[in-house]
Amino acid sequence: MKQTVSRRDFMKTLVMASSAAAIDWAGFGKPARAIPGKTEFPVVVIGAGLGGLVSAAYLARHGFDATLLEQHAIPGGYATSFDRGGFTFDVSLHATVAEHAMPQAILSDLGIWDRLRTAYTPELRRIITPEFDVTLPAKNPEGVKKELSRVFPHETKGIYGFYGEMEQVIAELWEGKRFDTSMMARLEPLTLEQWMSRHVKDPGLKYCLGIFSGYYGLRPESLNALFYAVATGEYLVHGGQYYKARSQDLSNALAGCIEANHGKIYYHTEAGQILLDQNRHVSGVTDKTGRTFPARAVIANCSIPALFNHLLPGGVIPPEFDREVKKRQVSLSSFIVFLGLNKPVPQVRDYEIELTESHDPYGDLLSPKADPAESPIGITIYDNLFKGIPLPEKPPSP
Ligand SMILES: Cc1cc2nc3c(=O)[nH]c(=O)nc-3n(C[C@H](O)[C@H](O)[C@H](O)COP(=O)(O)OP(=O)(O)OC[C@H]3O[C@@H](n4cnc5c(N)ncnc54)[C@H](O)[C@@H]3O)c2cc1C
Repeated sequence: MKQTVSRRDFMKTLVMASSAAAIDWAGFGKPARAIPGKTEFPVVVIGAGLGGLVSAAYLARHGFDATLLEQHAIPGGYATSFDRGGFTFDVSLHATVAEHAMPQAILSDLGIWDRLRTAYTPELRRIITPEFDVTLPAKNPEGVKKELSRVFPHETKGIYGFYGEMEQVIAELWEGKRFDTSMMARLEPLTLEQWMSRHVKDPGLKYCLGIFSGYYGLRPESLNALFYAVATGEYLVHGGQYYKARSQDLSNALAGCIEANHGKIYYHTEAGQILLDQNRHVSGVTDKTGRTFPARAVIANCSIPALFNHLLPGGVIPPEFDREVKKRQVSLSSFIVFLGLNKPVPQVRDYEIELTESHDPYGDLLSPKADPAESPIGITIYDNLFKGIPLPEKPPSP
């Protein structure tokens, strides 16, 4: 029987992790052009993270009266950079997909792609455990399969099967290829753990295949296989990229796009309440100082608990939806240390390294240790990305 996945189901999967990807933004222009009186339709976007920036940029570019409220002093949310002691650090975006993927489509549509520059990461990942040390090459799915088969020769068939299916998902999604059995439909009901178990047994190998699950905030036994296949498949096929010279450039470019299209951005402005009129229609947003921003629609790109418990008046969320949301658990956490080194480390050439002393890293992933000090460490060495990138202007004294 032919299996297909509906666009709706696919979008439902994507919405789990990305507010921008949840909407087909690249298809926004046509319906937006058909809407009359857009300047009479003020929209307030809360939060200038990437989701809020993209939303406000699209609205402004298509003639809506868009206002973006951000509590911080600069745009970006997590997609931001900061300076300390002569070093510039990136808060989050060490590797993402950009060229040949949805970000390029969105940023081109917004007219800012040409202003941005990206660097490809030199490898997909180096993984070091007490049992093995393997480097998965970038933009080279065959090389990844070969390297893993060298370390896990007894699992060669499963390795080729797993990555072959991942590549099929990317071919269906981006190249529009159709197969008798849609891989997207097959993976949609599975968890990552179930999908890996259909191909391989070795826990060390499962650790490698599922190495990116932490990025998506869930353990392999809770993470949707299709979501993992799309996000990781893009890295596998297209390679990880980094916005040069800093990811702040991406956020600044989006903010520039909003302002160039007559959208307004208010920094140092924390949204306090979303106002509803007597018909329970949105009428505005107040900030913490009591200033009101008129709105006929609000996009809240802040946390859902903040939206439900503080920004919206009581009683407007349907109780069954509220119950559903309250069942959600906090996702995985990480502890980040930003280190500025006072000398180069030429003996290490890699950019992204996963390091663990555990003899059972996959078991730890499924039931993590209570002591975070025993968790695996992800290391990103920015010096190794492209020449000159993080060299401090003023090196700290030794
Ligand atoms: C450590 C780390 C590493 C990561 N690495 C990568 C990576 O390499 N590649 C990748 O693709 N992704 C990475 N991510 C994920 C990526 O950074 C995030 O998914 C993305 O930046 C989130 O954007 P957002 O707009 O959804 O939310 P946020 O960035 O959280 O933005 C929300 C914004 O809303 C503002 N806000 C909240 N409440 C209010 C209010 N009441 N009023 C006004 N403003 C408000 C906040 O100040 C913030 O600016 C990483 C994330 C982390 C934490």
